[in-house]
Amino acid sequence: MGEKRFRATQLFRWIHQRGAQDFAAMSDLAKSLREKLAGKAEIRPLPIVTEQISTDGTVKWLFDVGAGNAVETVFIPEDDRGTLCVSSQAGCAVGCRFCSTGHQGFSRNLTTGEILAQLWMAEHKLRARLGLKPGERAITNVVMMGMGEPLQNYNALVPALRVMLDDHAYGLSRRRVTVSTSGVVPMMDRLREDCPVALAVSLHAPIDALRDDLVPLNRKYPIAELMQACLRYLEAAPRDFITFEYCMLDGVNDTEDHARALLALVNGRGPNRVPCKLNLIPFNPFPASGLLRSPREQVMRFAKILQDGGLVTTVRKTRGDDIDAACGQLAGEVQDRTRASERMKRLPVPIVPLGSPLR
Ligand code: SAH
Ligand code: SF4
Repeated sequence: MGEKRFRATQLFRWIHQRGAQDFAAMSDLAKSLREKLAGKAEIRPLPIVTEQISTDGTVKWLFDVGAGNAVETVFIPEDDRGTLCVSSQAGCAVGCRFCSTGHQGFSRNLTTGEILAQLWMAEHKLRARLGLKPGERAITNVVMMGMGEPLQNYNALVPALRVMLDDHAYGLSRRRVTVSTSGVVPMMDRLREDCPVALAVSLHAPIDALRDDLVPLNRKYPIAELMQACLRYLEAAPRDFITFEYCMLDGVNDTEDHARALLALVNGRGPNRVPCKLNLIPFNPFPASGLLRSPREQVMRFAKILQDGGLVTTVRKTRGDDIDAACGQLAGEVQDRTRASERMKRLPVPIVPLGSPLR
């Protein structure tokens, strides 16, 4: 608009730091500029369909993004931080069989504005609710682990990440913004160049035959390629490890053989050795999946094999499951344009007989 650069900084501060909803309120901008802005742009909250609060303090919002689509955003309070789990798409086209978003199919990518609006809405609502003083932040960490595959919405994602990191907006450090991906290899390389933030990779299986089944994207980018991409990412990453997420499915990927194969994959001496931490996620069941959560003892046995092998391994605490806000339970409302939901209904449950050699 031909305005001075510092005007952009002022606008950023008004919108993102102070949560202004109206250009007219921006008292340090010239009246003529305020009017010009109001004629060209709008600051529009995302309509809230529902807001649910769990007994453990987790908050889940369902936001309307139009045309029958709605996406979910989850706030997870902890003693030393507040994490917001943000959606990147209405639905998801990857179609992992243990994920309820995957079962819903795909409608569309969210815009940069819709990704950021989740943070803007949550931050300013929470500040008011928690009675925070000016300058205090409710959200200290963002994880792109809501609905959707963020690296399949790359062009909208990167500008949104940049605003999260900007000191005049949310000022989050690169280590506190995490992109989680099911393994879109070429986009991992681009993210490393364009906006390196912390990276979580949804692994879920140590061998291709099983991962092909659970995460269909593996057929395109198999495990060896994914590991190489992780190593390249680490050259520019703000942390010196990758977080591998591993959803624990009873009798499917949770045997001691799987644990040893996983250890050999990431911790072996071969070229695929990746500095990493393992985050085991007990599967959060939903009826259409036909899958079951691994028993607690099995998760612990699995974790111990990894820990004994020298891998830093944690088991994710389930938060907000009384309001269906836990990992993989985000379903929103998706006008599926891919008929994935129908296809998924016909899938057989993967059978890996216990005690048999790994497929
Ligand atoms: N599409 C990205 C980010 C969203 S999913 C990705 O797949 O990484 C965020 C995490 O939740 C992923 O690790 C995913 O595998 C996990 N997840 C999905 N469904 C789940 C379920 N039913 N129970 C537990 N974790 C699940
Ligand atoms: Fe998509 Fe991630 Fe769910 Fe897989 S786990 S279907 S990539 S949202």
